[in-house]
Amino acid sequence: MVLTEVNQSWKDVARDFASRKLKMGTHWLEGEDFWSNARLLADHGFLGVTLPEEYGGMNLSLFDALLMIEELCKVCPTSGRQVYHTSIGIASFINHLGTEEQKRKYLPQIISGRLYVGLGMSEPDAGSAATDITTTAKEEGDHYRLNGSKIWVSEAHLADVFVVYARFGNTGKPSDIGAILVERGTPGFTVGVPEENMSGEFQSALYFDDAIVPKENLLTNRDAFKALMGVYNGVRLGFAAQTLGIAQAAFDRTIQYVKERKQFGKEICEFQGVQWMIADMYMQLEAARTLLYRAGSATANNKPDKNAASVAKVFVAEAAKKITDDCIQLHGGYGFSTQYPLEWYYRCARAASIAGGTVQVHRTMLASSILEKKFDQRR
Ligand SMILES: Cc1cc2nc3c(=O)[nH]c(=O)nc-3n(C[C@H](O)[C@H](O)[C@H](O)COP(=O)(O)OP(=O)(O)OC[C@H]3O[C@@H](n4cnc5c(N)ncnc54)[C@H](O)[C@@H]3O)c2cc1C
Repeated sequence: MVLTEVNQSWKDVARDFASRKLKMGTHWLEGEDFWSNARLLADHGFLGVTLPEEYGGMNLSLFDALLMIEELCKVCPTSGRQVYHTSIGIASFINHLGTEEQKRKYLPQIISGRLYVGLGMSEPDAGSAATDITTTAKEEGDHYRLNGSKIWVSEAHLADVFVVYARFGNTGKPSDIGAILVERGTPGFTVGVPEENMSGEFQSALYFDDAIVPKENLLTNRDAFKALMGVYNGVRLGFAAQTLGIAQAAFDRTIQYVKERKQFGKEICEFQGVQWMIADMYMQLEAARTLLYRAGSATANNKPDKNAASVAKVFVAEAAKKITDDCIQLHGGYGFSTQYPLEWYYRCARAASIAGGTVQVHRTMLASSILEKKFDQRR
């Protein structure tokens, strides 16, 4: 896909910044390292790039943000992820659905690298079946009373505000679902102990035990599942861009390695078995990038088309899993060693087949759209 001059310039800006200012990432940054990196990105204008200028953002397109995330992730995945979260990730729920007051309160802090937002959607018994959530938000005077729990909330230990999906009605239908912003420190709200996942990222549960949340924190009331998913499709593409950048980093290292490593008296790139693996990886990367860019540019109001998002999400996830696995293979024992980041790249890429909706669920959604039939998963 041919990029416009503007698209290319944002890609170049991110690439240049990454090469000059970022250290090669071999693990997710945590604690003070995480926050100082966020401030570095903020100082150079990289956080919240799609957010409106009046709050300190740059009003860029979702596509430009994707290009930047991909470039930054090739060098430092934490940086790419911070740009993703603040630009087209969880922060975009506030941008797309929030009130003017909420935007004024949170967006400038997000853009300046002082506030991180978490997403509380999944529940112990409602993962793929997202509309089965049971967390309730009951309207009472000037507040909502929340009861229930969430699971798998990424980087909850770093977040001070959470977008929480809840049921605002009691019909038992998806139309009960809306979302509300819950701040850390809210009475009755607890963030669980962070637990490390396979890629070294921390995830936590959230607990709501008669949590009292002011009414002004309401993001969107009932009948909002579709609107929430419209925003979430952008989040999915951000994760795909992160994954593609990581797969490209693994590939670039591998190209260098196969030209240096010698066996049987010659560089291993001289072997046809290796050459074909390289060619296959390249084709997968090119195809994944094309689909991601297509989905990123087919947007309305910075929200992607849902089928294009599913196609890109699934293809990038599966290509990155295969590519990072083959990169380990081509590094032999060094690939399996924790001295090299190849195994970390693989562990990061592996998440993309599950997070943001599993590849099976996206296939079912696509089939439903192609066949113009609703397939009730409960019957
Ligand atoms: C790295 C990571 C980060 C995450 N971050 C967050 C976060 O910040 N906030 C949040 O709320 N959640 C988060 N999640 C949770 C994520 O959204 C869920 O894990 C995902 O939706 C799958 O739900 P589940 O884990 O309950 O799996 P299940 O729904 O139990 O699925 C288990 C298996 O069954 C298959 N399956 C289920 N239903 C069907 C079906 N109808 N047809 C075919 N196959 C089916 C699935 O594809 C899967 O293989 C994260 C997950 C990961 C891995």
